[in-house]
Amino acid sequence: MRLMPLNIQPIGEELAVSWNDGTETYLRLDFLRRHCPCAACGGEPDALDVVAGRVETPELTHTPASFRLRSYQIIGGYAFQPTWEDGHNTGLYPFSYLKRLEEAVAGENSR
Ligand SMILES: [Zn+2]
Repeated sequence: MRLMPLNIQPIGEELAVSWNDGTETYLRLDFLRRHCPCAACGGEPDALDVVAGRVETPELTHTPASFRLRSYQIIGGYAFQPTWEDGHNTGLYPFSYLKRLEEAVAGENSR
């Protein structure tokens, strides 16, 4: 079964995703933005190495607006594209990447 979100909804500081496999993913918006996979943010494919502290990220300037979600859309049935309050919208988050980010968070929390 192909992983698809049934519902994506920002709730407070988090993005809540209900998947068609019955699971749910909650990701903090600031975490999501810090792991923006676009080229300018230096994301994929090293984003998870960044999470693990194995890769240096370019120095990025974020403001409080960078972590607020203005809107979002689903691209091509495979990716989530947020538009942030600071206007940044070049990050495409494939659904599988959202799942992997959640696993990375779970890993951090268990350390
Ligand atoms: Zn980006």
